[in-house]
Amino acid sequence: MKFQSSLKSISALAVVVAISGCVTVPVNEDPIASLKEKADWKMPDGCYPVTSPFKSWYGPGGGKRHIPHKGMDITAPEHTAVLAAHGGQVLFAGEDGLDGHTVRTYAGKDITGNHIYASYVHMDSTLVKTGDYITRGQKVGGVSSTGAWGGRVNHLHMQVQANNHGEHRFGKGGYISERTAKLVNPQSYWYHKESSEYQVVKHDEGINFNDQPGVFRGFSYPVDCKK
Ligand SMILES: [Zn+2]
Repeated sequence: MKFQSSLKSISALAVVVAISGCVTVPVNEDPIASLKEKADWKMPDGCYPVTSPFKSWYGPGGGKRHIPHKGMDITAPEHTAVLAAHGGQVLFAGEDGLDGHTVRTYAGKDITGNHIYASYVHMDSTLVKTGDYITRGQKVGGVSSTGAWGGRVNHLHMQVQANNHGEHRFGKGGYISERTAKLVNPQSYWYHKESSEYQVVKHDEGINFNDQPGVFRGFSYPVDCKK
């Protein structure tokens, strides 16, 4: 009973937090993710859709997965620009086995002190280098289906991880293992304007994101939208 009531308090807190727009969710719990998944996200006009959300058992082509999805998939025509959804530093850029052409980034600390990492996977190429600093909206590659896990459907796989100690390394492979940085739902971190709840924002709307080095302020849409 005690456990249940504390769970209730957590979800009540999550509602308050979501409404106020301040994310104070401890890493590894992600209570607002399910709330936001159900919410009616307003997508910017002309943007390609999320075809396989976090934890989905189905791929972007409809096939059944063996394990729940570790990120989210956005299906778009081959070579559509993949745009950094945040500023930060490139931890790895290049071919990474089953992931194909991949860029892995460190986005900085969010307002709760969690360190956020993002990967852009199955791209046609990588336009940045390991160690580069990138800005929000910068083109890092193009949509494709490279790597054995890319399947036959052109899509961006965006994977997000978080930890509270900042441990990470540069280079190929397990730059941050799932042991040291928990998988989180990328859609938990959609950037939205304070005046408009659950507004997904594309990078080119002339919005001032107030980006600062090392500070994570949420993700803008990572695939270029049709004009
Ligand atoms: Zn995926």
